[in-house]
Amino acid sequence: MKKTVQLYEGKAKKVFSTDDPNLVIVSYKDDATAFDGTKRGTITGKGAINNQMSNFLMQKLEQAGVPTHYVQELNERETVVKKVSIVPLEVIVRNLSAGSFAKRYGVEEGIIFDAPTVEFSYKNDDLHDPLINDHHAVALKLATWDEIDAIQKYALQVNDFLKRELLACGVTLVDFKLEFGKTADGSLVLADEISPDTCRFWDSKTGEKLDKDRFRRDLGNVEGAYQEMSRRLLGK
Ligand code: ADP
Ligand code: UDP
Repeated sequence: MKKTVQLYEGKAKKVFSTDDPNLVIVSYKDDATAFDGTKRGTITGKGAINNQMSNFLMQKLEQAGVPTHYVQELNERETVVKKVSIVPLEVIVRNLSAGSFAKRYGVEEGIIFDAPTVEFSYKNDDLHDPLINDHHAVALKLATWDEIDAIQKYALQVNDFLKRELLACGVTLVDFKLEFGKTADGSLVLADEISPDTCRFWDSKTGEKLDKDRFRRDLGNVEGAYQEMSRRLLGK
């Protein structure tokens, strides 16, 4: 499988067309951004870790019954995935309070919820990805009710799976963001990535942050956190 034309360059990945119109190649970069792109930096080795971790988790999710865009890992940074039209919703699942939730509602981080929560942001850079509810998403024709229902069901299934997988590695899954897309034949699949860029991981014993918050909040040892997550989940 060969890259033909670059279709898109985002903040963390590039997307290339291939000779198969239904497949694209994603190439993971070491670039990091935060706070709506206002903070920029490089996390050496991040692209390779995020690519391999995302592929590892998506393959396992596929086996557990969640359809994904994953097709084939090409090398440490590049993967063939099904080309989808992305549903413009960031689907956020939370098990503990943190980040924008703690800020918005004026609570501390680390409150354990009785049950996971699901929320949506409208994926729209010009509007700065505002929080949106399901009725508004349907009104704006971002998704149908059937798609919203399936997205919520898959998101909670991903949460159950990830929580268990991480707990076995001594990591608490605080929250994460998913994106879904529709393939050429109209089927809904989990797309984008699952990595320390898109999840909050806390060491179960010490509470040490092992994710992108180390970059966002200038906590130091950013590369070390990504490497530690790679060691714990992928054994390398
Ligand atoms: P951003 O666009 O937020 O800067 P990235 O740098 O991660 O994010 O860019 C990757 C882009 O590719 C995102 O816009 C994402 O929605 C999109 N994408 C992810 N998976 C697929 C896929 N299977 N097919 C097409 N586009 C995808
Ligand atoms: N997240 C993400 N991309 C975004 C916004 C959030 O991957 O554009 C992830 C983030 O890493 C965290 C979860 O979604 O794991 C919840 O993020 P939150 O809403 O608390 O926002 P933040 O504090 O990151 O601004």
